[in-house]
Order: sequence, then structure tokens, then C-alpha cells
Amino acid sequence: VFIAFEGGEGAGKTTQARLTAIWLRDHGYDVVTTSEPGATKIGMRLRAILLDKETKDLSSRAETLLYAADRANHVANVIEPALARGAIVVSDRYVDSSLAYQGFGREQSADEIAELNRWATGGLLPDLTVLLDVPPETGFGRFASPADRMESEPLEFHERVRRGFRRLAEADPDRYLVIDASLPQEEITRLIRDRLHEILPD
Ligand code: C5P
Ligand code: MG
Repeated sequence: VFIAFEGGEGAGKTTQARLTAIWLRDHGYDVVTTSEPGATKIGMRLRAILLDKETKDLSSRAETLLYAADRANHVANVIEPALARGAIVVSDRYVDSSLAYQGFGREQSADEIAELNRWATGGLLPDLTVLLDVPPETGFGRFASPADRMESEPLEFHERVRRGFRRLAEADPDRYLVIDASLPQEEITRLIRDRLHEILPD
């Protein structure tokens, strides 16, 4: 079983992914937690390029390719091996982040990015994608100041990203659980657990 957490900055992906993994382990499941970008050694180097505020001349297409390269390596070295041994994989971000950020955010073709990522991942998609939906202003309000290159993008960029995520979820309601991330944390956790009960193996 492969579960991905998606959403904009400050949506609470990392927190909810962690709580989900703890809960699954308490129920006896073998769980691998991971995140993008940067889950592998090469991925860490790609992440450094992608998020460094000093990186000024990265074209949108090159950015998309580097995220896809990070993901290809992530799938090959972390996600596929874990799924193959029967573990539950919980990832903080996956393919939908590229569709939302590089597609909707950078206004590149989401279809082309989907095609590129189908190739990069060998077509692997999550069984469940939890979208933590929050207005960018609210998400950014949870940080003191922008920490990386992408967080320095204008608010309109992050609004396109948010709309992108919501469009993706509407197009594939079976794979998505959309949650209002401004709800109290315990409430969000409960909604996620309710959905997981439906898809988990016994
Ligand atoms: O989730 P995390 O904060 O580690 O993501 C790091 C940064 O990478 C975020 O600022 C996010 O906006 C950006 N990002 C991106 N495109 C992706 C994935 C992440 O711009 N496909
Ligand atoms: Mg961040």
C-alpha cells in the first residue's frame, strides 16, 4: 500500500505523515516513511540545487526534469523495494506535487508533466493521496519566513499550485482524500484514519 501526502507550504503534510506512520506501526504494519525531494543520496544533491535561493538560472523545464529525476531515483531505491517486501509506504509529496508546482504553478502542460512522470516512475501511483488543502496565506502564516527558493515565489504562484492540487483531486476522486487543513490537527488525523480503514489489508 502506497500513501502520499500532498499540499502547499505549511499544510501539515510532514506532521500528518508522521502521525499516520506511528498509528500504522502501532497496528503492526511494516511502514516506510519517506519524502520528496531528497529521499536518496542523489536526491539530496538534486534537492540542494532545486531549493537553493542562489539557484537563479534554472529553467522551468530543467526544474521539472530534476524533480522527475529525483522521483525516479526515489521510486527505484526506496518506494519499489519497500512495496515489494510488503511494507506500507508513506510519502511526504509525490507526483502530484510536480503536476501542481511545475504544471499549474509554472504554467507548463500538466499532461506533458504527467507523461514524463509516468516514465520516470514506471507508472507507479499511490493507492491513496491525502491532499491537505489550505490557502497559501494560512500555510505561510505557520512559518517565520520563506526557507527555500520555492517559498520565495509570489502568492499568485502558490494560489495556482493550490488550485492545481484541487483540480487534480476533482479529476480522480477515488485516489484522493481532500481535507481542509485549517481544521484542528486531531480532526484531520481522524479523517485520515477513517479512510485508511477502508484500504488497509487485514
Ligand atoms: O515539502 P518540502 O517543504 O520539503 O518541499 C520543499 C520545497 O520544494 C517547497 O518549497 C515546495 O514548494 C517545493 N517543491 C516544488 N515542486 C515539487 C516539490 C516541492 O516546488 N514538485
Ligand atoms: Mg517547505
